[in-house]
Formats: sequence, C-alpha cells, structure tokens
Amino acid sequence: MNPLAQLDLQHVWHPFTQMQDWLKSDPIVIVRGRGIRLWDALGRSYLDGNASIWTNLHGHANPQIDRAIRAQLKKVAHTSALGLANEPASLLAHRLVRAVNHSLPQPVPGNQSLTKVFYSDDGSTALETALKLSHEFARRTRGPEFTPRYLSLQGGYHGDTMGAVSLGHIGTFHDNFKGLQFKSDSVMAPYCYRCPYNRAEPARADARTYRQCNWECVDEVQSALDKAKDEGRPYSAFTFEPGIQGAAGMIPQPEGWLRRVATRVRDHGALLIADEVFTGMARTNVTLPTGPKAHTSEVESSNGEQSARVSPYILASQEEGVQPDFAVLAKGLSGGYLPLGATLTTQAIFDAFLGDYSDFKSFFHGHSYSGNQLGCAAALASIDILESSKSRDQRATLASALANDLSTLWHSPWVGDIRQVGLIAAVELVENWQTRQSFPLTSQVGIRVCHAMARRGVLTRPVGNVIPLIPPYVTSPRQMRQMIHALAESIEEVLPQTLT
Ligand SMILES: *Cc1c(COP(=O)(O)O)cnc(C)c1O
Repeated sequence: MNPLAQLDLQHVWHPFTQMQDWLKSDPIVIVRGRGIRLWDALGRSYLDGNASIWTNLHGHANPQIDRAIRAQLKKVAHTSALGLANEPASLLAHRLVRAVNHSLPQPVPGNQSLTKVFYSDDGSTALETALKLSHEFARRTRGPEFTPRYLSLQGGYHGDTMGAVSLGHIGTFHDNFKGLQFKSDSVMAPYCYRCPYNRAEPARADARTYRQCNWECVDEVQSALDKAKDEGRPYSAFTFEPGIQGAAGMIPQPEGWLRRVATRVRDHGALLIADEVFTGMARTNVTLPTGPKAHTSEVESSNGEQSARVSPYILASQEEGVQPDFAVLAKGLSGGYLPLGATLTTQAIFDAFLGDYSDFKSFFHGHSYSGNQLGCAAALASIDILESSKSRDQRATLASALANDLSTLWHSPWVGDIRQVGLIAAVELVENWQTRQSFPLTSQVGIRVCHAMARRGVLTRPVGNVIPLIPPYVTSPRQMRQMIHALAESIEEVLPQTLT
C-alpha cells in the first residue's frame, strides 16, 4: 500500500464515512490534477465526475485561477476583515453585486436588490450568517420579545454547523443531533418521481415532464403558512435549495414551483433565504428545451440533439423570477480552489443593524478568515472565466451533450429516474422501474456502482441509490460521454443480467 494511504488509515477521520469500512479499503490518494483529470499516488488517472463534491467549475490547475492566486500570494495571503478592508474582498463584493442584480422576467413581488456581502468560510458558515441576520432582523422589526420561527423543506440540507443542521431535514444526517438543535418546521418539497400526488404511471422520462398533479406541494406550503399565522406565530424566514435539492438525492423542482412558493412566502411576510451553495455560480443557469427524455430510436438519439441556452444569471432562484432576501454562496464561489463563503443581502436587512455605537446593534458575528485574500482572488478569476463567452459556449454544449448521453441510460431497467438541472445530473437506481421500488440502503447499490466507476477511471459519490454526475464546466462532450459510459458499464457490472 502507498505510504500516504497508510498514514491516512492511521490518522485521518473522513467526513460522512463509516471508518470501519474505510480502514479495510485501499484509499485513492490524489496527488495532482489538471482540467477535469486527477491522478493518484500510483499514477492512475480519473475524471472528476462530481467536481470534487460539487465545488470545481473550471477544472483543476486552471492557469487563470492559479495565476490570480500566485499574484495575490506575492502581495499578502491573509489579513483580518475585523477592522480592515482588503483589495480582493472589495473587488469581489462589487463583482458579486453586479453579477446577481439583473432585471428578471416576471419578477416575484417584493424582490429587492442584493447590495451587501458578508464573507465567511464555507457553505455552513454562510448559511449561519443568513440565519442569524434574519433572526436579529425579525427581533428588531417585531420587538425583542418575538421568537423568530423558521420553515424549510423536507430533505433540505444546509450544512453541518448547528444552525444549519436545525434547518435541515434529512433523518440520517440530523436526527442524532436533535438535542443540540433549535426547533424548525419542515414542509413538503417537490419530488415528482416519488410524489404521492403524482398520478402518472412511471415512464421513461424525467418525472417532472409527465407528472399529473394540481400543484398539491404548493398547497402544502400554503397550509403550513396559514397554520403558523392561525397560531399567532408566523414564520420569519423560509430556507430552501432553489432548483434542485442536492444532498436529499439530487431532487429537482418542476418549473414554476419556486415562483409560486416564493410569492406565497412573501405574502406571509417571511424572508427568503436561498441556499445557493450548490446551485449558485451558474451551476443551474443553462436550460434545455426539455429534460432528458426517453429516446425511442437510434435515429432520434443521433438527430435529437437539444440546444441549450445559457442565461445571464448566476443564481438558480433567478430562473424563477426570485431575487431572495439572502443568497448564500460557497462551494463554486472560489471556482473550487479555496474555502470561501458569502452571504448576499439587501439594504433593508443591513439598515436594521445601524445605530449609535452605544445601541450595540452591530452584527456580533464573524470569522478569523472572513474575506481571505487568496480565496477572494480565486473567486474574482473564476467569475472572469464564468463571464467569458468561451465559458458560456462550453456550458451550453456540455448541457446538451449531457442531456443526450443521459438519455441512453433509459435502456437499463435499473434506472428509475434521470434528472438534469443545468449542469447537474443524477440517475436514481431502482429495483423495479415499473413500481419505482427502491433498493434497500443496506444493499449499498449506490456505493458499489461508484466503486465500479472509480475502477473505470470516473470519480463520483452516491447519495443513497442516486448517482450524481456534476461535471466541471470545462468537461468536453467526449469526457462527458466517457463518464456516462462508465456509469452504464458499472450498473451492468453491479446489477447484472441487464443492458443486453
Ligand atoms: C454543501 C452544501 C452546504 C454546506 O456547505 P459546506 O461548505 O460543506 O459547509 C450547504 N448547503 C448546500 C445546499 C450544500 O450543498
């Protein structure tokens, strides 16, 4: 075994990992990356099929981002944002504000510009920032006796610090920590493939496209809001992952859901906290005329190339006309190079914290590395690339290639649902596609398929029995095809007697 792998097994405790299994494994030790390719200590190479847990946008060792970090390193690596401003943090705040303020078609009532940026370290801390700001804002506008109340989505994931955990609703991740959490309410999130209100029989297409329902999931949100109001304790804020819920299992929302829900939440008087940690930085801002549909003949698969459209936005919320009151960014913010979080908010929230020094209305919150220069420099370079026409063209091409290649997977009876939102794709594996019967989690089908993919040189990490493919934006159509091919072969290896 590689000596670095040995040291890892001796000392490193990995996140979200059953270490008993890990200790029996021979871990892949990554030593180098270039573009979407990674190399391990044994010289084997891999495609980064989940963008290093959904963070990487423009590939590894990207010359433009490397150069920006090196240039900043020559000046200074880090100084504190407590009492000091710095060059890249100022420039990045300006760039972010410019990037997120667009006029939206069919804007949801109550939209305000996002003009203020609070820096933190990662997605969890950026979400905590929004949570604490909204808490203080509610108390300041409704009186110090008011206890703010929170609503978020079933299956929601917002990070692993305790505030974020309290807003999260994934049993396996969050229930053990109930004793540490504050109480928040959850409400039904759309999951068309498994929705009890969807009367459509399973078909070989993205469930959102053939669902038969009356937006009962939106009614459920309305009922939750009405109930809170009847109890005399309305909600202060509604927290959601826009477009698609990541850690829940890559669960996409049907077009129009967020617009409807955001309108009702604003009517209720609650703030909108958009957790764009995963979906932000243009991850979802490529739209296809339709989702990955079943291809019925070879002719259709070769001629049915769908052309994608890249929108001018970088937030998933904006595709639905929603300018949230808080936009929480991390993961791809630095291009996937350095830990960096940012919470964007409105002048109205900011103003509630203004007062004489002796009023002690400051936001008493922050981190040692807030506004870190290296992270901000990387983010600036990443946004430069993002806004280039080359990147936009690449993303459109990649989204189309992804949709077309994904459609080949419908041939497998183990594939229940295939979903794509922009440059996020996922395949839900099922025991029986005609009944949508799931594999039991203990069968570890997702884990085994991902191990088989790694042996074929493609890295991704399952969410239960859902296999995500989150390509970096610089993935070529050929590399995309390689990833899908590895997935198809791995399904066949792990779940044999299929794909004949
Ligand atoms: C990853 C993620 C987080 C947490 O971000 P970290 O940087 O891991 O703390 C929060 N929200 C969403 C939607 C995420 O996907």
